[in-house]
Amino acid sequence: MSTTAQTPGTATSRASAVDAFEVRPSDTARTDAERAALMEAPVFGTVFTDHMARISWSVEQGWHDRRVEKHAPLQINPAAAVLHYGQEVFEGLKAYRHDDGSVWTFRPWANAARMATSAHRLALPELSEADFLGAVEAVVRTDVAWVPSGGETSLYLRPFMYASETFLGVRPSREVEFLVIASPVGPYFASGVKPVSIWVVQGYHRAGPGGTGFAKCGGNYAASLLPQQEAYAHGCEQVCFLDAVTNSELEELGGMNVFVVGADGSVATPPLNGSILEGVTRSSILTLLGEAGHDVQERPITLAEVRSGLQDGSIAEVFACGTAAVVTPIGRLASDDFDLTVADGGTGPVTASVRAQLTDIQYGRAEDRHGWMHRLL
Ligand SMILES: *Cc1c(COP(=O)(O)O)cnc(C)c1O
Repeated sequence: MSTTAQTPGTATSRASAVDAFEVRPSDTARTDAERAALMEAPVFGTVFTDHMARISWSVEQGWHDRRVEKHAPLQINPAAAVLHYGQEVFEGLKAYRHDDGSVWTFRPWANAARMATSAHRLALPELSEADFLGAVEAVVRTDVAWVPSGGETSLYLRPFMYASETFLGVRPSREVEFLVIASPVGPYFASGVKPVSIWVVQGYHRAGPGGTGFAKCGGNYAASLLPQQEAYAHGCEQVCFLDAVTNSELEELGGMNVFVVGADGSVATPPLNGSILEGVTRSSILTLLGEAGHDVQERPITLAEVRSGLQDGSIAEVFACGTAAVVTPIGRLASDDFDLTVADGGTGPVTASVRAQLTDIQYGRAEDRHGWMHRLL
């Protein structure tokens, strides 16, 4: 593990603690043939690599025991705090293989910073950027054979941190585990980018003022699952939440941010008001569209505005964004009292263009003008 983050052509090399990770090889690593079979057409989140990175934390010792070990079931006491009070945060990012065989991640510093913000809100210990990057580098370098190549494939990385102390009292855990697991994934849209239908839920919220909406924590997802079922029941793939104060402004989907494109080329997304998750994809899109000359606005977007805009054509495109799907066009928005389709079924040019720009940077097909890419190997 001597390769450092110092890569020619990247302005953004930062400190990494990768050399502090002790690699303890798995005794059950899959053979080349087994791995090839598993990587044939992996369903998202079902296939995992041979190893995981791990760091333990306790009040007494702080972060310690940095290692890469076998990806295996965890030993967890039934009284572990996370199982009762949900003290947990996570991240999601990808490792991309470029045509020359090199392996990269996209803006991992943003994920490291966001995990620290999320951890703080959940009263979990903050992990340094160097440890976050080190863990990601350590597991990807150990399992680099699991980084797929070709198409829009990637190795999905899931860093997460949970309260592991055996204790049923209600207070922040005095013991915590941080892990990074890795899962090869095929293209999100296996048969071409396809617009999704969105259910605008009016009876549930995922977050509210002073809550945990800005933190990437499992609890937010737990709160989104019942409304998500309501969406399915109405023939929609995803749910869009409104703000909890006025029940009138778009916030975001269960796990993706949302953008609205005007017929005049302006682009708007809801502002970071404390109940919205600050997506790395969202922030990158704001940058790219601003540079392309669009009038880019972070401002409240009312449902009323979206409804009338779709009806009179002043809203041309709506899309969602996040690491897993990058950019997902939205073709239909429905709720108890309306059902509207987006112009051209949601296949508009701004959505397609920003998706292509982002994936071209991520897969090394376009110049990385912003220093967003970080080389892993
Ligand atoms: C992770 C997540 C997003 C997208 O964030 P990215 O950094 O772009 O992947 C959006 N909303 C929620 C609720 C999320 O958990």
